[in-house]
Amino acid sequence: MKRVLLWIGVGIGAAAAVALAILIFCTCTFGNHEYRAATCTEPEVCTRCGGTRGEPLGHEGGAASCTEPSVCIRCGERLGEPLGHVWLPATCTEPETCARCEATQGEPLGHVMTEPTYQTRATCTRCGFTEGEPLAPALAERTLNEMQVGVPVPYTTASYEDYGVDVTGTAEIVDYAVIEGNDTFPAREGYEWHIATVRLVFSGDDARKNGAQTAWTYGDFYILDDSMAARADENGLRPFAADWYGMRVQCWQKTGPYEEEDWFDRELRFSWQEGVLVPKGYDGVLLIFYNYRLAKDAARLYLPASDVLDDAVPVFRMK
Ligand SMILES: [Zn+2]
Ligand SMILES: [Zn+2]
Ligand SMILES: [Zn+2]
Ligand SMILES: [Zn+2]
Repeated sequence: MKRVLLWIGVGIGAAAAVALAILIFCTCTFGNHEYRAATCTEPEVCTRCGGTRGEPLGHEGGAASCTEPSVCIRCGERLGEPLGHVWLPATCTEPETCARCEATQGEPLGHVMTEPTYQTRATCTRCGFTEGEPLAPALAERTLNEMQVGVPVPYTTASYEDYGVDVTGTAEIVDYAVIEGNDTFPAREGYEWHIATVRLVFSGDDARKNGAQTAWTYGDFYILDDSMAARADENGLRPFAADWYGMRVQCWQKTGPYEEEDWFDRELRFSWQEGVLVPKGYDGVLLIFYNYRLAKDAARLYLPASDVLDDAVPVFRMK
């Protein structure tokens, strides 16, 4: 009997042990949960009882770009929208370009070129790009007998008494100045006077016998324009046109009063001021001294420059 009781006791004990083992290893009764790692959206979850611990990790966003949204570096979830490009306007040479990623779209605008002028190369009105060369001045290739200030040069013209006889003296630009204006040469907005003080001197036997008849006219270095032959108005202003940065601009010429026009000490002298009223900076006007016989033959003074200009006649460029 005693042995039977012992075995019953043993059986109960074993059953209790098994039950305890089951409780320990198959349930969470004693707090021994088996947690699965937390994710972006789920906290730790017990695989046995479904109980949770802590908080979800939350997404960890990478950097968004112009074309790609931010993406969670852990789970790949798309977070928000792409940033979109920040387009900078197209220029002459570059298409529209993203300030962030340098992506481009469309085409460059292309330059908007002006025609070249005598003063400027062809130029883009949008960006200032230039190309080519300025137009070639009409007289660029011509040899001119160009006068320097203060240096007398030989000048041949017809005598006063007999147009068939030439006399040779000297022509000199005694002084040259650029001024706004004065009593003789009235100022004008946007213009300046280029004034040459001229002296012609004749002293040979022919001149003493027959005198000398002077003649001069104007030309334009760039366009060799003949409009200088126009008549003077009541103020002595003779209009002509110049080509200035591609525009035809009105200019004027004026001959000042003579300071000398007579014999002095066996020399026949002529001295006066020649002025041209031109846009500020214009450097194309030529003062040309020529043989009066040409004017006599043509029955007019102020012959067009193209009729008198050769490589011998003294020319002063009023620049
Ligand atoms: Zn659990
Ligand atoms: Zn995530
Ligand atoms: Zn971009
Ligand atoms: Zn351009």
